[in-house]
Amino acid sequence: MGEAPPRPYNTGVYMRILVVEDEKKVASLLKMGLQEESYAVDVSYDGEEGGVLAETNPYDLIILDIMLPKKSGLSVLLGLRDKGINTPVLLLTARGTVEDKVEGLNAGADDYLSKPFMFSELLARVRSLLRRG
Ligand code: CA
Repeated sequence: MGEAPPRPYNTGVYMRILVVEDEKKVASLLKMGLQEESYAVDVSYDGEEGGVLAETNPYDLIILDIMLPKKSGLSVLLGLRDKGINTPVLLLTARGTVEDKVEGLNAGADDYLSKPFMFSELLARVRSLLRRG
């Protein structure tokens, strides 16, 4: 076989990832890094919009910051699980306390990463969650 032809994003061939992160620098690093790995990436900078996107699009994975404007990542997550949307969620937080971790996992998160993190670690967790899904 020769090189695979380029495929449009909406065929389901690409894994779709939603990044909800208000720190523009972190959001754009995540977007660029994940796109380089051939994921289709949408970015939202607040919890309200991010929640709507997450509820209305078939993402394979959501990377969700906890401290967000308008609506916290935890309420976005609770809202999704409440509606029976079981998309894998990787929570990001600046506060890496055990209580935060427990709260996040209780709210229905699949995994949890404290900032600052190495992109390589995030990518390993993303891959693992996508394999599970
Ligand atoms: Ca934040």
